[in-house]
Amino acid sequence: MRQLNGVRTLLFQFIEARANEAGFSRVGVAPASHPEMREFERFADWADAGYAGEMEYLKRRSDSGEYKRSSLELAIPWAKSVIVVAMNYNSAAPKSTASSPSTTGWISRYALSPRDYHDSMLDALRRVESQLIEHLGEQGIETKTRAYVDTGPVLERVYAKYAGIGWVGKNTCIINQELGSWFFLGVIVTSIEYSEFVSGQKLEIAPDRCGSCTRCIDACPTGAFVAPHQLDASSCIAYFTIEKRATIPEPVREKIGRHVFGCDICQDVCPWNRKAPVSVNPDFAPDDSLINPDLAELARISPQEFRSRFRGSPIARAKHSGFLRNVAVAMGNSGCAEYLPQLEDLARSEDLVVAEHAKWAIERLRQQKDSEGATETQVTFQQAQS
Ligand code: SF4
Ligand code: SF4
Repeated sequence: MRQLNGVRTLLFQFIEARANEAGFSRVGVAPASHPEMREFERFADWADAGYAGEMEYLKRRSDSGEYKRSSLELAIPWAKSVIVVAMNYNSAAPKSTASSPSTTGWISRYALSPRDYHDSMLDALRRVESQLIEHLGEQGIETKTRAYVDTGPVLERVYAKYAGIGWVGKNTCIINQELGSWFFLGVIVTSIEYSEFVSGQKLEIAPDRCGSCTRCIDACPTGAFVAPHQLDASSCIAYFTIEKRATIPEPVREKIGRHVFGCDICQDVCPWNRKAPVSVNPDFAPDDSLINPDLAELARISPQEFRSRFRGSPIARAKHSGFLRNVAVAMGNSGCAEYLPQLEDLARSEDLVVAEHAKWAIERLRQQKDSEGATETQVTFQQAQS
């Protein structure tokens, strides 16, 4: 068990019990600001360096021109503390680093279940929020709160670190010694002083257990880590396959491999995920058809089928056009020349983005086929000479 620096109060114990009842695996609390939380200053440098790419929501600014995410009190002036919860979504699905048939694609672990985690977690988080308000209300204490799952102007990972949920790994994920990193984070911003939860002002920071390991950095196909703990999100496969609209830059396409939605490599190689427990929450049970899905089948999905099959799923975020674009890139990287007829169909698509990526994939497969043919010819010629 991790070391606790402060003594947790009855209020914390109340919240912890309610969060556990609601299905959260871990709960912690952090002050809204603290001199030790220097990550907020670094956020502006990170965003100014362009590492957020086209993710405009990360770059929203306040009226005074500062990034909203660089200070919670700027966005929510009454904020005094942040309750952070973690929900395990791990499944027994194979890792992306395990071998899989070249005719299949890869969908990120968090997107394997049909239900959007935002809905599932927000329902549970709002239950905890209401119980907290009611509990304090019974004591005549008025409290302001706001619950968020990804959608607020909150750097969840920073608060998770200072709430003792885990350390920020070199892969920039929060890692918990027992859970690994396969969990979602949610927060309740409150007007309650931190000292109401933890006596003393010492923060409950989990020790960094990455040590000399660099597996995640070494394994990243796009070299998206500009330094340990620092990710250029605009170079990450998850960004290209989920957030990036329209064209994926050509030099990156080969590096994407057969990822059609997200990337888990830097978590799959992490030793702390080797024994990560599997979630018992039925909301996160994977849809088996999304584990190593057949690329030919994905390429046939019509806009209507995409809408009905992925309604409520995180995959809907890629939209039909982005999804087919990703499938075309994956087919181009599959080395399977049997996809050429299907790619030729996609290359005639009215969707110019899909058509352009399909043409790229055709070209890539043909070049591979030609070079294989050339190698075979060379071998035959050498055999004839010997
Ligand atoms: S998710 Fe994939 S592409 Fe992104 S940083 Fe991790 S290994 Fe690299
Ligand atoms: S792979 Fe190694 S360096 Fe990367 S987050 Fe895991 S323990 Fe840390």
